[in-house]
Amino acid sequence: MLPLLKIQLKTSLTTSTLDTCIPPLVNKTTKELISVSNSQRFKKSFIRTKVYPNNCILARMNLEITQAIKALLETPQKIVIVPHKNPDGDAIGSTLGLWHYLIKKGHEAVIVSPNDFPKFLKWMPGSEKIVNFEKEASAAKDLISKASVIFTLDFNHLGRIGQLQPLLEEATATFVMIDHHQEPSDYAQIMYSDVRMSSTCEMVYNFVEALGDTDLIDPEIGICLYTGIMTDTGSFKFSSTTSRTHKVVAQLIDKGAKNTEAHNKVYDTNTPSRLHLLGCALKNMVILEEYHTTYITLSQEELDQCEYKKGDTEGFVNYGLTLEGIKFAVIFIENKEEGIIKISFRSEGTFSVNEFARNHFNGGGHTNASGGRSDVSMEETTNFFKSLLPKYKEALEA
Ligand code: 5GP
Ligand code: MN
Repeated sequence: MLPLLKIQLKTSLTTSTLDTCIPPLVNKTTKELISVSNSQRFKKSFIRTKVYPNNCILARMNLEITQAIKALLETPQKIVIVPHKNPDGDAIGSTLGLWHYLIKKGHEAVIVSPNDFPKFLKWMPGSEKIVNFEKEASAAKDLISKASVIFTLDFNHLGRIGQLQPLLEEATATFVMIDHHQEPSDYAQIMYSDVRMSSTCEMVYNFVEALGDTDLIDPEIGICLYTGIMTDTGSFKFSSTTSRTHKVVAQLIDKGAKNTEAHNKVYDTNTPSRLHLLGCALKNMVILEEYHTTYITLSQEELDQCEYKKGDTEGFVNYGLTLEGIKFAVIFIENKEEGIIKISFRSEGTFSVNEFARNHFNGGGHTNASGGRSDVSMEETTNFFKSLLPKYKEALEA
């Protein structure tokens, strides 16, 4: 990719309430920004939101980003939208919600996913149109190389898209990031990045609202965004759920999103083999009371015995946190094909599993939900994990 120049943004803020949060001042006028956005130089400039100090939540997209996006989408574009590898409800919901919206606005748009996604998301309107890079590599390559704009959703560094990474690195399109994970890297010219958001779907709602287009939200866009907010907030229970999240969800229901249907289709479509796998996972659960920690292991053999299919282990890690007094729950899942142990971390309270995953397991995510990987055996991985806990004893007691 080309070396990137940054437009410096001043981030000092004077007010701090949710809806009156003043966007950062930029040392470029709006006019200049728009002219930058219309020129070739736009490809080399950065426009970004920052993590705001203290109690300021940027519930809306700021003016500079809004105007840059407006300028970018003023004329019909060839757009590719990319979710992260192993996309979850938020990744699929946000890419589909944005896709429906951009099509309505007259753009040519397509979603290219690094790989397949779980069956419990395949009912979502438009999901059958998603191009799976693992199955349609040459079509995906062609779309990416011809794109004028690439939206990357629900991730913030290109290491999260597997085999698609080199293709995006070579792409000449203007990149727009919409994401709520911590520590974004610098690949996108326009970054709408806000770690306080419950979900990327809530941010896509803000995006559409900032562009003055909430009237375009129909039942299809509504159900896609609703589903992602629902899955990323653990059905509106995680601490990232704000009153604003509920207001957005209320708007989506008013626009025709069938909320009960989303819950039923995502959570009430178990197969007997998945419930057997859950039984196996719960049987394998180890409780380390001293560290307020539980962990679950699932070997490839156990997965095979229960006819594992993509998405079957979704949510298993959360069972650990339902135990009273447990603050840290982990699941280790063997993937023989990739030669790795995929790990999910969850916490309650202040213990940052984002830092834990980043520091020890080549991963990341959010304060209370993160993921990572290990390249050694299950036994070595769990032994290493247990060896780390004494260092965190105090933090896990907080
Ligand atoms: P999950 O455990 O559900 O796969 O992921 C929880 C959160 O951590 C999600 O927000 C996901 O994007 C992030 N995450 C999962 N795996 C990884 C990883 O390997 N690297 C990074 N940076 N984030 C991850
Ligand atoms: Mn998300």
